[in-house]
Amino acid sequence: MIVEQFAQFGPALETLAVELRSRLSAEDAPGQEGGHGADTHIRSGARLELVENAIRRLECGEYGYCARCEDEISYARLKARPESHLCGRCGAGKS
Ligand SMILES: [Zn+2]
Repeated sequence: MIVEQFAQFGPALETLAVELRSRLSAEDAPGQEGGHGADTHIRSGARLELVENAIRRLECGEYGYCARCEDEISYARLKARPESHLCGRCGAGKS
């Protein structure tokens, strides 16, 4: 993939990270009902971790490559989920 194509994912990832962080701190606020809220919290936390990971990878030039097979991750996939760290094959083949 061409480096310029990565550049647009930087701001997208930063926005996503800010969004997820504020969602997490809102969920931390006392007086919120429990139930499925805790589940959402875990999901937001896990996604934030992926997003922060992707930002680090972007900074060190590893962004856009599959963490498992080191293949390029398709542009369409990154556009849909900029925090993707697996290519379509590895991401789909969870067993
Ligand atoms: Zn892969």
